[in-house]
Amino acid sequence: MRLYNSNEMARIGCHGCEGCSKCCKNMGQSIVLNPYDIYNLSNNMGLSFEELLCGPVELTSEAGIVQPCIKMIDSAEGSKCGFLDSNGRCSIHSFRPGICRLFPLGRDYSDGNIRYFILEDECPAGSKTKEKIGAWLGFSSDSELRKYEEFLGKWHSYISDKRKEIYAAGEGAQAKAKEIGAMLLNRFYIPAYECEDFYLEIYRRMEL
Ligand code: SF4
Ligand code: SF4
Repeated sequence: MRLYNSNEMARIGCHGCEGCSKCCKNMGQSIVLNPYDIYNLSNNMGLSFEELLCGPVELTSEAGIVQPCIKMIDSAEGSKCGFLDSNGRCSIHSFRPGICRLFPLGRDYSDGNIRYFILEDECPAGSKTKEKIGAWLGFSSDSELRKYEEFLGKWHSYISDKRKEIYAAGEGAQAKAKEIGAMLLNRFYIPAYECEDFYLEIYRRMEL
């Protein structure tokens, strides 16, 4: 599998999706939201985390750890994201979650570096165009992209360490997972990010 850096070009351009919306339907609880996603949703929609949980967001347990995700709603065409509008377009396109921005790419965290791979069979768009991955993710400046990738790497390591703690708890793993899930919600999701710099604020919380 070929891995790309974010400054490379990859054949991922889907011609504006042209009303396809396949990756917005029947996704179960796979669109997991990190604190940056929740920060963006809250700020742009003017809703607190608790208010988001009463609407388009729900909680899931990903490998034993409770985290928020996009809620799929039932419809005549199967389940679909509540943000999908009647024209098959994303109604929150400019501030959609990171996993949605990424598609049809996946992210690889091995070797301590963030790299990307193409989900060859997941997106039906034909004759894909070559796009620069950083721009595809919606970052016009390299410095903003670097800051985002640095955050993703740190968050991924943080969650991986918490998974190891759960595993190391042996018979107490269930209680440990519950404790960590509650800590994540109370420390990273429920309190709003009042500081102007999201990254400074989350790194401060990661050190608590
Ligand atoms: S599956 Fe591909 S073409 Fe369809 S909405 Fe997703 S990214 Fe766009
Ligand atoms: S947030 Fe937008 S892009 Fe993501 S699944 Fe929902 S409608 Fe699709």
